[in-house]
Amino acid sequence: MPDELLTQRLGDIGEETVVDHLIGLLPPDSTLVVGPGDDCAVVPLECGLWQLLKTDCLVEGIHFLPGTAPELVGRKAINRVISDIAAMGGHPHDALVTLAVDPDRSLGELDGWYRGMVGACEAVGCRIVGGETSRLPGRGAVISVAMTGLVSPAHCILRSGAAKGDLIAVTGRLGGSFGSSRHLSFTPRLGEARWLVENARPSAMMDLSDGLGSDLPRLARASGGGYRVELTSIPCHPGVSVEQAITEGEDYELLLTFPPAVFATLSGRWKAAFPDTAITAIGEITGETGEPLPRGWEHYRHE
Ligand SMILES: [Mg+2]
Repeated sequence: MPDELLTQRLGDIGEETVVDHLIGLLPPDSTLVVGPGDDCAVVPLECGLWQLLKTDCLVEGIHFLPGTAPELVGRKAINRVISDIAAMGGHPHDALVTLAVDPDRSLGELDGWYRGMVGACEAVGCRIVGGETSRLPGRGAVISVAMTGLVSPAHCILRSGAAKGDLIAVTGRLGGSFGSSRHLSFTPRLGEARWLVENARPSAMMDLSDGLGSDLPRLARASGGGYRVELTSIPCHPGVSVEQAITEGEDYELLLTFPPAVFATLSGRWKAAFPDTAITAIGEITGETGEPLPRGWEHYRHE
């Protein structure tokens, strides 16, 4: 590793280089099913199930704006993590919550965060089992949630399972999440993901958090392939351009790939199970990417 990399500003090298460097410091571990790089880490348990592990944080000014209704902030903090556990085909279980805040904040704001978090947990049958609080030296707030989940090995779907020729699909509609406050009020696609792994097994799955333009290349790369997307088939929210739908992020929809024969049998059964949510084919996995999508959200660069 060149020493000069360590002297670089994060904003100059970008999130991906930072994360790759940190992961490179971890000793190799052959007992993990999945280490860093998927929606959750996957650790085998002695009972035969696999444990999912996920941590995530909300930063005031990045993931929510000052003055946002506290219950919605708490709801989002939990639901982002549940969305990642759903994207592995799993069931969410136990959460730990860390709050780092400035001392000028009212207890009422933290009370609201917690009420939102407890409500989001109760909606899916998981729970908060502990936490930690710390003071921030300046003004600000960070809410970090770590959660465990469980999945049977047969139902666990990784980002890396897509094969050349598989169809790429998304649930729901994309774009306009931050402008419409859907980024606060979304419901994770837990039931949809569970139904899919049991009824029409995707070859790869992840949730869309940073935007199709960032997340699809990650899925394709993890699967060792490229992608081709039919831009006109991307399902956009009303009033949202295709460019916005690709780059804005915070959709919390599922990004999936299916062998074409599996997708062909899916449509009628999906409509019967989820009449209000579309599942739309938008392209296919290829050997190499011809025309890359515009990039979505990346931490450190968009300052
Ligand atoms: Mg994710």
